[in-house]
Amino acid sequence: MERVPAPAYAGGVPAATSPDSPAAASPLAPGSPPAAPLPGAPGARPTAFRTDVLVVGAGPTGLMAGAWCARLGLRAVVADAKPGPTRESRALALQARSIEVYRQLGLEEAVLARSVPARHVSPGIGRWRLGTVHLDRIGHGLTPFPGLHVLEQSANEQILADHLAALGRPVAWRHAFRALAQSPDGTVTATLEAPSGPVTLTARYLIAADGASSPVRHALGTPFEGTTSPFEFYVLDALGVRGVGDGIEVRFSAEHFMLCFPMGRDERGRRSRLLGILRAPDATAEGADAGTPDLEPRSRAALAGRFGITYADTAWSSRYRVHHRVAAAFRSGAVFLAGDAAHIHSPVGAQGMNTGLQDAQDLVCTIADVLAGRAAEGSLDRYEAERRPVALNLVRTTDRVFAAVTSLSPVARFVRSVLAPVVLPVALRVIPRSPAGGRVFGYISQTRIHYWMGPGRTRPAGQRRGRVLGRRLPWVPDAGHAGPVPGGDGRGDNHEALNLPVWQVHAYGPTAVPVARELAERHRDKAAGAAGPASGVRVPGAQVPGAQVPGALVLGERAPEARVPGVRASGAGVTEGPAMRDAGAPGVLVSRLSGPPDLPVHEFRAAPEQDLPDGTAVLVRPDGFVAEVVTAPASGAAAAKAAAETAPSRSAASSLRT
Ligand SMILES: Cc1cc2nc3c(=O)[nH]c(=O)nc-3n(C[C@H](O)[C@H](O)[C@H](O)COP(=O)(O)OP(=O)(O)OC[C@H]3O[C@@H](n4cnc5c(N)ncnc54)[C@H](O)[C@@H]3O)c2cc1C
Repeated sequence: MERVPAPAYAGGVPAATSPDSPAAASPLAPGSPPAAPLPGAPGARPTAFRTDVLVVGAGPTGLMAGAWCARLGLRAVVADAKPGPTRESRALALQARSIEVYRQLGLEEAVLARSVPARHVSPGIGRWRLGTVHLDRIGHGLTPFPGLHVLEQSANEQILADHLAALGRPVAWRHAFRALAQSPDGTVTATLEAPSGPVTLTARYLIAADGASSPVRHALGTPFEGTTSPFEFYVLDALGVRGVGDGIEVRFSAEHFMLCFPMGRDERGRRSRLLGILRAPDATAEGADAGTPDLEPRSRAALAGRFGITYADTAWSSRYRVHHRVAAAFRSGAVFLAGDAAHIHSPVGAQGMNTGLQDAQDLVCTIADVLAGRAAEGSLDRYEAERRPVALNLVRTTDRVFAAVTSLSPVARFVRSVLAPVVLPVALRVIPRSPAGGRVFGYISQTRIHYWMGPGRTRPAGQRRGRVLGRRLPWVPDAGHAGPVPGGDGRGDNHEALNLPVWQVHAYGPTAVPVARELAERHRDKAAGAAGPASGVRVPGAQVPGAQVPGALVLGERAPEARVPGVRASGAGVTEGPAMRDAGAPGVLVSRLSGPPDLPVHEFRAAPEQDLPDGTAVLVRPDGFVAEVVTAPASGAAAAKAAAETAPSRSAASSLRT
């Protein structure tokens, strides 16, 4: 591996959070926490650095990866070729699951303050609505964030970039990835082109979040398998919009379709994201758009003529071609693909950005487990095993829906213009009131994603999916905590405990407590390396003196002795406030004050309505997914039901892929 000679790299490379903000210290500057300089020629500025995680790309995926690295106390550098966060709105829908992930970072309030809630969706034909589905009502009781929240990509990026800068980890803007080399020792060295010249960064792991045309994926030679649609979309952020409501609108005609998301109001009236297919006016068959390249008049004409939607002006407009592609592998040695670098699909369903955000969380939590010694190196394969099926499923589904709404075949046109007006109004009344409504919301909000937690990489044929095992922890709004939750944000739900993203055990109902403690004891190895309060922990006046990264969850040997004033630290790395009870008492079971760490055990009320009946203990991963379910020996119908649900999990307990 070639070292770039000193003194090409200047430590004062601009690394501001946006092109307009003043230059901050470069994250690659000597002595800054995310990267340490490697020795070079005496007196010269270093051009080679070492870190644990290098994230290439600071779109939503890369920034989320950087934020999770900070949350879990990993040394990490996020580098991007561009000068600052994107100014184009681009992707704009935040699904419920993504806001849950933001909540774990302590960023939920920032996200909710800037987003516009879209509470309902109204499908229609031409100018007419056929009904309204209230997403917030269906999602009520399933997630703290029902409905859909409109927060454009540029705002997501700004929130995350500001967060990283505030934590002392500014993004290395204007650092373009050029090449990589993987070493026999398992590390990876990337060459980045900085304004002052090339620099190299050697990392234990590299996360490629560099978008659909990913230079890292090209450097690896990983195929990006799939198809490209012949169609192009127009995307407009329109001002002074008329002909739409406050929710999401989906409209069809024989040849066209249109999606509208609310973006709030300003002095000119309603602001909306309008998105549709670019089609030559006389198009009657499949094929590439042969119309004029002038986007705005064509989309304006289609919207007004077909759907009765008009607008005064546009704040931003673009056109883009839809691809349905998934990378052949998500891992190549020490390099991982995430977000659009790993998968792209049509915007139908508003899933793209959300999938990248969750790739980032899954991957960084796995890497943190490996770096802290809580899991073996081999468990890094878990990322591809979990996230690639999600991507494949998404691409398959959105591909089908996209084909159904864009196809010009006689059958598709008949369905859209004749059948749908008859069938849809009935379906829109019946489905939301049936259990299928909750399931559909679960798929769209990404709260129903399932990972296989048993032995092997995939679920054996015929094996049922658990309703709890392998899914994100079911949400219990009024969880009846038996004690204070470290890092709790006062919502009173069971997800409060996830604000401290460590492996943990939950006991539902009093009879679950003994099995929960046994479960925690069995998985004690998963407490290794976690210590200290985390960013987003709401302890008034809390500071972490001496912490290497302000606000970070400090791992392993980097854990400082000093902790939060008024909060004493327990041996397990769970902070214990004055009001907390000692280990062994009911409530939050905190760690021993000396000796090897324990997992935190949280006691909640039984929640049979969420498939967590009395006697259920669950092992929860830092990303909020349930890795094991155990039930206390009990009698009665509830226990029998619980046993039927958890049977596969018990047999899988000894071979969890963590
Ligand atoms: C015009 C447009 C409209 C869209 N509209 C929607 C929509 O309505 N709904 C939806 O769900 N999705 C939409 N998308 C897709 C959505 O933007 C992506 O799914 C999302 O941005 C993926 O995030 P990401 O972080 O994985 O990749 P990106 O956002 O593409 O980020 C990749 C980052 O990598 C950086 N990078 C690239 N090369 C290098 C290099 N050599 N070195 C360093 N950095 C590099 C880039 O500068 C960029 O910041 C749209 C996309 C476009 C282009």
